[in-house]
Amino acid sequence: MSEAEPAYKPYKIKAVEPIRLLPRAERERAIHAAGYNVFRLAAQDVYIDLLTDSGTGAMSQAQWSALLSGDESYAGSRSYARFRQTVADITGYTYFLPTHQGRAAENILFSTLVKPGDWVPNNMHFDTTRAHVLHNGGRPLDLVIEAAYDPEAQLPFKGELDIAKLERLIAEHGPERIPLVMLTLTNNSGGGQPVSLSNIRAVSELAHRYEIPLFLDAARFAENAYFIKEREPGYADKSPLEIARACFALADGCTMSAKKDGIVNIGGFLAMNDPQLYQRASEALILMEGFPTYGGLAGRDLDAMAVGLREALDEAYLRDRIGQVRYLAQGLKAAGVPLIEPIGGHAVYIDAKRFFVHLPQSAFPAQALVVELYLEGGVRAVEVGSVMFAHPEEESGKMVYPRLEMTRLALPRRVYTREHLDAVIAAGAAIRARSEQVSGFKLIEGSGPLRHFTARFEPL
Ligand SMILES: *Cc1c(COP(=O)(O)O)cnc(C)c1O
Repeated sequence: MSEAEPAYKPYKIKAVEPIRLLPRAERERAIHAAGYNVFRLAAQDVYIDLLTDSGTGAMSQAQWSALLSGDESYAGSRSYARFRQTVADITGYTYFLPTHQGRAAENILFSTLVKPGDWVPNNMHFDTTRAHVLHNGGRPLDLVIEAAYDPEAQLPFKGELDIAKLERLIAEHGPERIPLVMLTLTNNSGGGQPVSLSNIRAVSELAHRYEIPLFLDAARFAENAYFIKEREPGYADKSPLEIARACFALADGCTMSAKKDGIVNIGGFLAMNDPQLYQRASEALILMEGFPTYGGLAGRDLDAMAVGLREALDEAYLRDRIGQVRYLAQGLKAAGVPLIEPIGGHAVYIDAKRFFVHLPQSAFPAQALVVELYLEGGVRAVEVGSVMFAHPEEESGKMVYPRLEMTRLALPRRVYTREHLDAVIAAGAAIRARSEQVSGFKLIEGSGPLRHFTARFEPL
């Protein structure tokens, strides 16, 4: 942070949404009735909701006013023209298809490009990109650097793709079996860790040497740009917009979930330079989302997205946003809560294995922490551990547990104040102080790779 630009709160509050902290006995009743699964809780029973940063941000007055200018014409609306102009200015790509959210853009891109048996490398696939690659018969591969799996490895860009792994993949299967390479900025599944411009450049050069297109999963492109500005030599004096443009320029297109760095409640897009791909993607879009100038959204949504994408690149906003994540992390760490480090862009990840050393993964320690956070402070976190990822081995039926057992606290954009974060820190500290007394959980309902959404548990 430069001294000329000290940290400050770059907004004040104009509209408020009432929330309340239920009495402890009511929280106990609510979580019991929810089968100890916070996805089953009513939002009104939650005090501080850190379940996700997706679609949960607060829109600005400029975004709310833009909604009123929405042009709801079926084709060729002014809203589309404004959306297009903004996205062209930020990304530099030629063709744009709005979609109702990120996964719809993935659906169109992968169903257009991926054939059965193809390999799709990524630094780390987000759940929905992995599912869409599989759905089209492709094979998703995570080629992130090994250090990404070490919760304590301190690296400035822990989300980078391992170039040697990509070279081996191309040598082994041939470029014709790799329809595209993807890079996820920031690496959500790996803790919101950033990717450097030099890594994007190296991946771009390698892919293009074999004429393989590179696409960015750009959900958190602005946060990634902020990390580059802060950490990569040579970019301290560049604006987040200039850095974002440099990232996009190295790729051939992107998928975008605007529910993240578009700061809207719904929206996304697919962008690309290839006219033939655009032609085929437009046909798929008409089938699945809508006419290419609205793509499953209202005109007003396109306007709110166009404004939000620019606001997400504001340096003061980014400093405040990433600063909030760090503030929460520092408070928890000072209370002895073990974290995945370094701290990423949109969430704090607690290392539940080290938090509850007495609980084996079969007793769902990260889930136990999610339940405790709700009981202690009315805080809703999310489990990213054995509930989400443990699965029986195909032949032996023996359970395979994930390497990382995490409880994630994701921060909605522009929503909570420091007082709210202090309440989360206090809850974490209180649980930490009595962590040996916390017992684990038994799964009593739910199966398959998406069981975390609907599962029910019983305390052990
Ligand atoms: C959220 C997300 C998606 C999917 O976007 P949706 O808008 O939820 O469909 C894809 N990639 C990443 C990295 C994400 O965080």
